[in-house]
Amino acid sequence: MAETWSGEFYCVKCKEKREASGEVRVNDKGTRMAQALCPVCGTKLNRILGKA
Ligand SMILES: [Zn+2]
Repeated sequence: MAETWSGEFYCVKCKEKREASGEVRVNDKGTRMAQALCPVCGTKLNRILGKA
């Protein structure tokens, strides 16, 4: 089951912080990333959560 994360993401298109929730992914370096969509413009948001 996918883990989800909610909180602040920085939207590069709006150039503002947005509250969003999305899926947690782990990349091949073992870094946890949260991926969500900007609720205003729909741009993909990424946030590095750090190592587990
Ligand atoms: Zn945006």
